[in-house]
Amino acid sequence: MFKTTIAGSLPKPGWLAETNKLWPTWRQAGEELERAKRDATLLWIKEQEDAGIEIVTDGEQSRQHFVHGFLEFVEGIDFEHKVKMGIRNNRYDAMVPVVTGPLKLKGRVHEREAKTLRTHSRRKIKITMPGPMTIVDTIADRHYGDKVKLAMAFAELLNQEARALEKDGVDTIQFDEPAFNVYMDDVKKWGIAALERAAHGLKCTTAVHICYGYGIKANLDWKETLGSEWRQYEEIFPALARSKIDQVSLECMHSRVPIELLALLKGKDVLVGVIDVASDKVETPQEVAAIIRQALKYVPANRLYPCTNCGMAPMDREIAIRKLSALGAGAELARSSLARSRQSPTSSKRTKGTPRTSSPGGRTRPRAARRRGSPRRR
Ligand code: ZN
Repeated sequence: MFKTTIAGSLPKPGWLAETNKLWPTWRQAGEELERAKRDATLLWIKEQEDAGIEIVTDGEQSRQHFVHGFLEFVEGIDFEHKVKMGIRNNRYDAMVPVVTGPLKLKGRVHEREAKTLRTHSRRKIKITMPGPMTIVDTIADRHYGDKVKLAMAFAELLNQEARALEKDGVDTIQFDEPAFNVYMDDVKKWGIAALERAAHGLKCTTAVHICYGYGIKANLDWKETLGSEWRQYEEIFPALARSKIDQVSLECMHSRVPIELLALLKGKDVLVGVIDVASDKVETPQEVAAIIRQALKYVPANRLYPCTNCGMAPMDREIAIRKLSALGAGAELARSSLARSRQSPTSSKRTKGTPRTSSPGGRTRPRAARRRGSPRRR
């Protein structure tokens, strides 16, 4: 119950890449860079496990950006002559590469990260990749001439890599689709179909992360224009609920998404964002547990996975570590208070004051949650 995970990315250490940046420059090159990426991945596996995170990721330490990290492994894309393009419906400009020919994978994309995770963690492991619609929104096209065709071509490549990742022992494959709350009509017309194509034939758990973006200024300004309630998901949740994807990840901490919209995801696991990535203020375990309790009104306990709102890539490393601890400790708090409330009034009276030695279902509490009951404060 309440298995914790993260949306995907974590800050890169200063010896690997520029810090506090969404598109950081690498500090190393060649073989040194590959070693540094692996070292950073190992470091974050340890930090996640110590914080009580149960489904761990590579923190996306091996890719410069969540979309272009995949595109660099695709033939038919010109990275030499990037063009300026308004992305996410012109919310902000980005320098994007250009599709110039038929798309084909150059080889494996995330094999090293998956193998590092599988070798060094006994927990469930997750690899994230950009979803087809978000890729199409983050690249210029001079070859296919049709968004849907282009999305399906990318979906095919994502599927090839996803199947290989599954063979590497990856438990969850997540596709990131921040474009899903921008182009709601297209999501229903072809976005979900492209996503299902990317996940086709997978036996491991599949997830989609949809979101209102990192805490960068362009996103914060955009959020201000969305009004007091963000109801965009009302349009796409019913379609997502009918899709073949197992899990949906979204932001709930400090979010203006009405929590009752979660009810529209009936039948899906919900990765409930309980950590705000747009703020450096570290949540308390109590605040995390409070969001879990709210979500619990609309999502069954066994389908609720406490998670971060979004990736933490551009964040300060020390703050990210404290936020991971708050996530682990908050989920643990929610578990124990739910277990208490499920006990009958008589038994809860009888056991009042008795120290609990294990969590519900006989599972022992994560060591980290015991050790770091509340996050360190600076
Ligand atoms: Zn996100």
